[in-house]
Amino acid sequence: MVNKINVQAAQQTATPATISIPKLRGEFSGQVIAPGDSEYDKARTVFYGGVDRHPAVIIKVKNAEEVSRVVTLARETGMELAVRSGGHSTAGHSVSEGGIVLDLSNMKNLQIDVEGRTAWAETGLTAGEVTTAAAAHGLAVGFGDTGSVGIGGITLGGGVGYLVRKYGLTIDSLLAAEIVTADGQILHVDAVNHPDLFWAIRGGGGNFGVATRFKFQLYEVPTVVGGMLILPATPETIAGFIAESEAAPEELSGIGNVMFAPPMPFLPQEAHGKLIIFAIMVYAGETEAGQRALAPFRALATPLADMLKPMSYPEIYLPEEGEYHPVAAARTMFVEFIDRPVAETIVNHLQSSTASMSVAQLRVLGGAMARVPVDATAFAHRKSRIMVNVAALYEKPEDKAKHEAWVNNFAKALQTSDNGLYVNFLSDEGEARIRAAYPGSTWERLAAVKARYDPTNLFRLNQNIAPAGA
Ligand SMILES: Cc1cc2nc3c(=O)[nH]c(=O)nc-3n(C[C@H](O)[C@H](O)[C@H](O)COP(=O)(O)OP(=O)(O)OC[C@H]3O[C@@H](n4cnc5c(N)ncnc54)[C@H](O)[C@@H]3O)c2cc1C
Repeated sequence: MVNKINVQAAQQTATPATISIPKLRGEFSGQVIAPGDSEYDKARTVFYGGVDRHPAVIIKVKNAEEVSRVVTLARETGMELAVRSGGHSTAGHSVSEGGIVLDLSNMKNLQIDVEGRTAWAETGLTAGEVTTAAAAHGLAVGFGDTGSVGIGGITLGGGVGYLVRKYGLTIDSLLAAEIVTADGQILHVDAVNHPDLFWAIRGGGGNFGVATRFKFQLYEVPTVVGGMLILPATPETIAGFIAESEAAPEELSGIGNVMFAPPMPFLPQEAHGKLIIFAIMVYAGETEAGQRALAPFRALATPLADMLKPMSYPEIYLPEEGEYHPVAAARTMFVEFIDRPVAETIVNHLQSSTASMSVAQLRVLGGAMARVPVDATAFAHRKSRIMVNVAALYEKPEDKAKHEAWVNNFAKALQTSDNGLYVNFLSDEGEARIRAAYPGSTWERLAAVKARYDPTNLFRLNQNIAPAGA
């Protein structure tokens, strides 16, 4: 049901003189959704709960030319513009209060050149959709750990997933893109055409324009050895998990989620509610070598569940509940090491949480990702060794301050020398934290590109980089 008061608020924010919904319906062949429409509430809902914004209009565009017209509409009316690909923004940036939502979810064209091992993918596609389609040809490009994440947001921020050590970040497979800039132009961007923009969109997020399609390099990944491995979490097993991940061949990438065991049917009952390492691992290579690479993890402790097996790559994506909208307090960081004392800090902090679910997610990096020069892309954390995300999921909005304080303290306790962070896991945390995503000269370089392509900061509902000189 549409909330009447909020609908009125949204309608008031959108100056009636500047947009007319019937006129927009005549102008766009895709769906134009406004307050009061039956699809409105679903269309304004994003992945994270606690984000309750009421845009004046949601335009589900069909092609780059329509994207250009929405960008022009936002520029000419001065209305806030939200760009939505998969709707998984950690900061809730893909929906606007009173503004325009440019929704790309109907743009799902995918052209795979099997011989040339490349794909042009429109940005309404999700990571899972591209992965499944590519796997039909034994091919893959690495995205993240969740199939429903949009390729728009994950690619523009970097993309850290199960192929990160073998093939690098998602942006390391990006060959070209089509970008609609703030002036409405549709640009083909690659290493030769607009190289400054091509550098900026590989890590700089949605600051420089709307990406309508990406050209990816694909790799042969006919099968992998991977899946879930669940171990009891102690300071020893956590430190051991990290040490083995660092020592593993780079075909192996994985995620260790240290958390309390939910009552999952495949876990022995006595493990429910106990701290576990819920690991998801992928060995992208030959099966026997994969089993050898995974053996040291199985030997860290008697596994509570061992579902590692040869599989097709898309099987690594766990099934998702469509209406799952968690409210989360979260912090992201890179750390230099996780030895036994750090692992003990992790255990102690998790044990002090009062949230319904708390987690420390650990990802060992390196390999192909680390071989790309630091200044080659706007993602500049090439030398960072381990990414850590700590999060508390909770239900009652009034508990926000308590859980935010918990994640803050937890993050402070883990922070080692590197103050950098990965922009795609950043919540709404202020400018200093956005700057931390772009170390060294990266920030100034991005601000200069922003001044060139978006001097009025039209694309500002994001982890914003203000144009240089603004
Ligand atoms: C459950 C979950 C799991 C995740 N796992 C991983 C992971 O394993 N690895 C990882 O790297 N990240 C991961 N992320 C983070 C994810 O990459 C970011 O949240 C990303 O921004 C989501 O992309 P989206 O298109 O779904 O989001 P949206 O909310 O649609 O977009 C996020 C922002 O990106 C920009 N944007 C999106 N599409 C475009 C476009 N086409 N053109 C211009 N700007 C655009 C906009 O500024 C927008 O506000 C995860 C997030 C969630 C919620």
